[in-house]
Amino acid sequence: APADTAGDDEDARTTVATVCLGGCSGCHMEFLNVDHGLVDLLEDVEFVASHMIVDEKEVPEADIGIAEGVVTNEENVEVAQELRENCDTVVAWGDCAALRGIMSLRNDQDPEDMLEAAFDGKADEHSEVPTGEGDAVPRLLQDARPLDEFIDVDVFVPGCPPDADVMEASLAALARGETPEISGEALQYD
Ligand code: SF4
Repeated sequence: APADTAGDDEDARTTVATVCLGGCSGCHMEFLNVDHGLVDLLEDVEFVASHMIVDEKEVPEADIGIAEGVVTNEENVEVAQELRENCDTVVAWGDCAALRGIMSLRNDQDPEDMLEAAFDGKADEHSEVPTGEGDAVPRLLQDARPLDEFIDVDVFVPGCPPDADVMEASLAALARGETPEISGEALQYD
């Protein structure tokens, strides 16, 4: 639970789940640059699921759900919906989740053409184009789109990736039950 409702129970940290949709993991990697700040942050938050820790297949219930990456295939849609259902506050980490970002460069290509270019006979002469039916490769959507076109998003943390300091401050604010203020230099990338 957020800190202002935690009372004297020192174990009642704000729980956080993170997922990677159609992203490069760069947002998660940047978050690790919080570095020593993680020691303080972990006094207030507990990561209950994240591929930074273990490759969870389910999104558990959590106070805060964070998504990196664009929604680009049917599996991403299911994970995004699961995040919304199981988490009180949903955060879009990075330009891909917030704005659709660099991952949407594929949007002027036909998905079938892309799959053929990537798979048809590429691994070996028998490799086939995935159909999305029972394949390890989920069916691509026609376009890669930002998270808020599929679910309600409460907080956007832009940047590619966002600065670690901004990610840390926004998560700490949410843990205190506050709405993060992301403005000024936090939105300047040079
Ligand atoms: Fe990767 Fe940038 Fe997208 Fe984050 S916003 S997933 S760093 S491309």
